[in-house]
Amino acid sequence: MTEPALTTSPAETGPALLEARGLTKHFPVHHARQAVRAARLARRSDPAQGKSGRGAPVVHAVEDVSLALPRAGITAVVGESGSGKSTLARMLARLITPTSGQLLLDDHRVPASNRGRREYARDVQLVLQDPFSSLNPVHDVRYHLARPLLVHRLAKRGAALDEAIKSLLERVSLSPADQFLGKYPHELSGGQRQRVAIARSLAVTPRVLLADEPVSMLDVSIRLGLLNLLGDLRERDGLTILYITHDIASARYLADDIVVMYAGQVVESGPAESVTDQPAHPYTQLLLSAAPDPDRAEPPSLQGRGSPPSLVSPPSSCRFHPRCPHAMAICAERTPPAAQVASGHLSACWLHAQGLDSEQARPIAARPPGGPPAMPRSAPDPGEET
Ligand code: SF4
Repeated sequence: MTEPALTTSPAETGPALLEARGLTKHFPVHHARQAVRAARLARRSDPAQGKSGRGAPVVHAVEDVSLALPRAGITAVVGESGSGKSTLARMLARLITPTSGQLLLDDHRVPASNRGRREYARDVQLVLQDPFSSLNPVHDVRYHLARPLLVHRLAKRGAALDEAIKSLLERVSLSPADQFLGKYPHELSGGQRQRVAIARSLAVTPRVLLADEPVSMLDVSIRLGLLNLLGDLRERDGLTILYITHDIASARYLADDIVVMYAGQVVESGPAESVTDQPAHPYTQLLLSAAPDPDRAEPPSLQGRGSPPSLVSPPSSCRFHPRCPHAMAICAERTPPAAQVASGHLSACWLHAQGLDSEQARPIAARPPGGPPAMPRSAPDPGEET
């Protein structure tokens, strides 16, 4: 059964500037013996795994992900390590080639070959997680910012180049710019390094910024400043931003829309407030219960158990079902369809499906002792299922 892909809908959020349709990435496993062992272990923990695991083993890093980034909007992709968010960002930046699926920029299909890669890089820039390694330690700030300007022929050497570099530094609030031009990465703080990395991305006047965990390696005290900088770039320059994070609280603070990924798939998406105030998927509820909350008096109640499945041989049904406290018989047999749970808010979970019979709805997981009551089944209109 082919299920509709979960996506933020351009119809709900405005016209999409960058769109991914059904992006999939499988990485070959070169150490076959390890792959066979991993698949065997995975099947032992979940017999439903590996039913489709014929042929050369691959890591199913990203599976059929659709995503639409509205112009001048901020979309957050949230998930734990190994959920496929960074692989998705690299496919959107065309640093790795998808196994299947399409990219569209301005409604035009982006070629799978190298053709037009330089023009694409001017429109879509990637900021990496680690500001310590994304800058070359033997070059100063001036070199890092001059290089993209010269490579893309956006400024000529001399006064114009100096002016362009200083303007970039001021855009990321590194001022007075003269103080930073001659500094090497080791002379900057983590936050300043990440600002230089963002300034380098801005040098080619991109329209889309893909920020892959841009604050996760920074001290908590300077994270907010970086998030506010991203918000300012959207407000001031109309930049379209994809913010990738494992921290759903920061996603709510910064983003208009949130897309939640688990084990390479999108499990929930929608407006940030709706996803965080009324999480519909048990995995999103797990993420939220793990997020720090100063207003919470009690310790968080974590409803999920265990760890993510092997991506060499993931479950062919709901990938979250071995960990889900609400799992039913059907969850181990069939992929859940995407269902609309609120305006623009979709969740891929059988809890929101209509018309399950008693055998399909039979619980297969014991609730954790002392855990919260089972989530009530929502009852959307049958016509709302997408
Ligand atoms: Fe997956 Fe079923 Fe749990 Fe929904 S209830 S997350 S479909 S295991």
